[in-house]
Amino acid sequence: MRDSVHGIRTRANVLSPRYSLVLPIYNEEEVLPRLVERISALTTRLDGETEVIFVDDGSSDKSVRYLRRIVAAEPSFRLIELSRNFGHQIAITAGMEAAAGEAVIVMDADLQDPPEVVLELVAKWKEGFEIVYAKRVRREGESWFKRFSASLFYRVLERMTPVDIPRDVGDFRLVGRKALETFKRMPEHDRFVRGMFGWMGFKQAAVPFERPARALGETKYPFWKMLNLALHGIIGFSEQPLRLALWTGLAISALAVLFGAYAIFSWIFDTGVIPGWTSTVVIVSLFSGINLFMTGVVGLYVGSIHAEVKRRPLYVVDRLSGFDRRMRVASGAKRASFRKSGSGVTADVRTLRPL
Ligand code: UDP
Ligand code: MG
Repeated sequence: MRDSVHGIRTRANVLSPRYSLVLPIYNEEEVLPRLVERISALTTRLDGETEVIFVDDGSSDKSVRYLRRIVAAEPSFRLIELSRNFGHQIAITAGMEAAAGEAVIVMDADLQDPPEVVLELVAKWKEGFEIVYAKRVRREGESWFKRFSASLFYRVLERMTPVDIPRDVGDFRLVGRKALETFKRMPEHDRFVRGMFGWMGFKQAAVPFERPARALGETKYPFWKMLNLALHGIIGFSEQPLRLALWTGLAISALAVLFGAYAIFSWIFDTGVIPGWTSTVVIVSLFSGINLFMTGVVGLYVGSIHAEVKRRPLYVVDRLSGFDRRMRVASGAKRASFRKSGSGVTADVRTLRPL
């Protein structure tokens, strides 16, 4: 069966794969050959047809060149090339939205999420769990600071949000079709994917695993990216900071009233207090500091609203390869936008729906 859409031919395939593996790639040239080897070994051990979706998140090294080559050679491999670096959370979103499998597994490319653990995730899925996440019981090769800050963050977040976001869980996870379809209906720009899956409910289970050190290369998550992710987590899933701003504001107002009463008292009874420069400076700087902080907190939420109201697509796809055997354009898709470019086909993956 062949469909022709806007002059671009896409062949519909009636058989969808059972499993889709989604791997975000950002400058991972060193580790790719080893990754492909391990992933290929894994696919032979899985009990169903498996597609492997690599999402290139705007790599500037030789990753794309390598990926294009192996995707051309291996029919079950697919490649989504994003038009620039959109960040890890968006890259895995793009991959999941394009996945056709009954169960979709997201894992890091640096082999910190051991492919063998996927077999355990699958076993749990077969027991009837819709979302199975891999839980880190030990982390190797990560700095003391990273482990400490991650642990602190999960504990703070847990106190701040009513959503059940499991501790020490990253994005190494298997999700079934129902959870995936729910995920596709969540268009938020401020994405904290692990929180989104926590929010949606369903039967969830954890598989513990020991997280090894990165196989090769360096982390693509420097401190500021981690901090950003943590902020997205808190802003996206908690209103506590706004409440904190309110209560701090109230407490300070109460203090100000007391201080005002004291000042008036001193003036009426003329207790001989010389109007103090020190107290003025201290109070003004303290209050303006708190004010700025509160404005900042509100600003984070306003910024988040601003990102949502612009309604831009979450990501832009530069080029797709390997999908033509399995994808067709969803009937009635309104946002289908195709154009031919020098390097290939440009399309928004979200307008393509797996059969
Ligand atoms: N990654 C990505 N885009 C980014 C940063 C990272 O797609 O902007 C990918 C990266 O290639 C890897 C995964 O996300 O497959 C996790 O990144 P990394 O291992 O560097 O993070 P860490 O394990 O150090 O937290
Ligand atoms: Mg890593």
